[in-house]
Amino acid sequence: MIILTVEQTKQWMQEIQKRMEANKEQLTALDQAIGDGDHGINMARGFNEVVNKIDDTEYDSVADVLKSAAMTLTAKVGGASGPLYGTAFLKMSMALQDKEVNQQNFKEAIDAALAGIKMRGNAEFGEKTMYDVWYQVAEFLASENVEDWEEMIEACQATIEDTREMVATKGRASYLKERTLGHVDPGSMSSFYIFEALVAVIEV
Ligand code: ADP
Ligand code: MG
Ligand code: MG
Repeated sequence: MIILTVEQTKQWMQEIQKRMEANKEQLTALDQAIGDGDHGINMARGFNEVVNKIDDTEYDSVADVLKSAAMTLTAKVGGASGPLYGTAFLKMSMALQDKEVNQQNFKEAIDAALAGIKMRGNAEFGEKTMYDVWYQVAEFLASENVEDWEEMIEACQATIEDTREMVATKGRASYLKERTLGHVDPGSMSSFYIFEALVAVIEV
């Protein structure tokens, strides 16, 4: 069963862009608490660029759409999150090269993205970063509930809340150490919007 077509992948990027734009201030406020306050701007600008690029281009495959998004994010977003999301989408693209996307290879693509974020950011689960949410999604896709997308959303939401109780050990937030306690990680929130957008596209 194909779960993601070229057209749906473009819609995925559009749905992400809408969420980043709508929640720009929230993401900025989260980053003001434990970072430099640019995460909302970074995400909204990055995904605006992605959508502009994608709207003007014809694609033959899901992998090509993801590659385009990856290159744009890496090029246009300053800060840690641009190259990290760029790597995630690039690894997904590479995993899906010449393939129609089904449940099995989508899982493999998320595993590849997760490995990419880990490689690039040197992050582990539980360090209060975007990695935590991608890890949760990978876990979910490996579980028996794999078709219950609402459950995946709930698992991500729980992970976001879990970051509140973590001390950051990666990225800018790590400079604040214990002072990051009580605050949600901004990148875990933007990653949540990425997967909420995915579910909005594939569940209809
Ligand atoms: P910057 O910190 O450079 O200003 P952003 O504010 O756009 O970049 O993104 C910050 C987010 O990036 C953090 O909330 C965290 O989720 C993620 N992040 C930062 N460093 C790392 C890392 N080494 N590994 C994984 N994720 C990271
Ligand atoms: Mg920042
Ligand atoms: Mg910054």
